[in-house]
Parts: sequence; C-alpha cells; structure tokens
Amino acid sequence: MSVIGCHHCDAICDEPDIPDGGAAICMRCGGTIFRRQRQTVEYTLALITAAAILFVVANAYPFLSFEMQGQITQTTLISGSVALWEQGRFAVAALVFMTTIVAPALEIGLLLYVLAPLHFGRALPGAVIAFREVERFRPWSMMEVFLIGIFVAVVKLADMADIVPGIALWAFGLLIPTLAGAASFLDAEIVWRRIGDLK
Ligand SMILES: [Zn+2]
Repeated sequence: MSVIGCHHCDAICDEPDIPDGGAAICMRCGGTIFRRQRQTVEYTLALITAAAILFVVANAYPFLSFEMQGQITQTTLISGSVALWEQGRFAVAALVFMTTIVAPALEIGLLLYVLAPLHFGRALPGAVIAFREVERFRPWSMMEVFLIGIFVAVVKLADMADIVPGIALWAFGLLIPTLAGAASFLDAEIVWRRIGDLK
C-alpha cells in the first residue's frame, strides 16, 4: 500500500481502496483527494470510437475550399504540412504533421488497442507499453491550436476569397471536444488495475 497526500491541507495517509465511482475524502479537512471514475473503460472507449471515426472523416474529406478569381482550391488536413514542406520549412512542416496527425492518431489507436479488449476482459500483448505510450503522446496532440490557426487564416482571407468549410472541418471541430471528453473520463489508475487483474 502506498501513501498519498491531501492537495488541500497536506495531510498524509495510506492510500485507501476506493471502489469505482467513489471518492477519497481527507480525514482532516474533508477535501476530496481523488475520485474513481465509474465505468471509465466503457465511457472512454465509446468516446474514443467516436473520435476514431471523426479522425478518419477529418483526414479523408476536404477541409476548406477557397474560391478566388474563379479558381477553386481545396485543402485537406495534410495539405498544410505538405505546403510547408514544399516551401522548405521542414521543421515546421514536421511539427504540424506530428501535432495534427501523428500524435492524435497514436493517441486514438493506442487507446482503442488497450480499452477495446479490456472491455471484453482481455489484454492484448503489449497493452502495458501501449497504455504507457498514450501518456507520452497526448501532450503532442495539439489539434485545438491548429484549429485556432485555421480560424485566424479564414478571418484574414475572408475578404479576398469565398471560403467554404468542408465536412472535414466540422469533423475536426467535433473531434477536439470528443477527445477532451475521453481524456476526462479516462481514469488511468483503474485501467492499470484492470490490466493488472488479468495477468
Ligand atoms: Zn486535507
């Protein structure tokens, strides 16, 4: 058994065994030390499945269409990285590719790999490594920053060109809160315990 500290008053106690849906309350100040999510695997899995579908749509369909002087240009999620690469901005291109495509794809893929079998009471080989890597890639997933960048560009270009938002933009916009929701339902402690129970 390990020892935990209260964030509110710094009281130290042995870590109690808290059932899912319960909370550990500090004996001294009554503050909540931590909560255990109820059905964390199921809720997170549902949202991650939705995120996977949205991610595919966001990558497969046009993001924005510009019409300038009769010419229509369509962009996709990856075309930003490609354009930067062609302009010789290799580092920025790689960073945009990493933060908008690779990191979210890994986050979604690895969580599906761990949580889907866990829901059926199994753990696939490498689940421990996969779940550890999720934590490593999540900080690199910065789609919301990219979306703000898109909005800034759209506002600036609005006078010069007709801009039509594509289906991918809506999918991308929905993907961000879906992933944030999945992250808030994910209780890593419970997932670790359920993986451990299967061994
Ligand atoms: Zn306390």
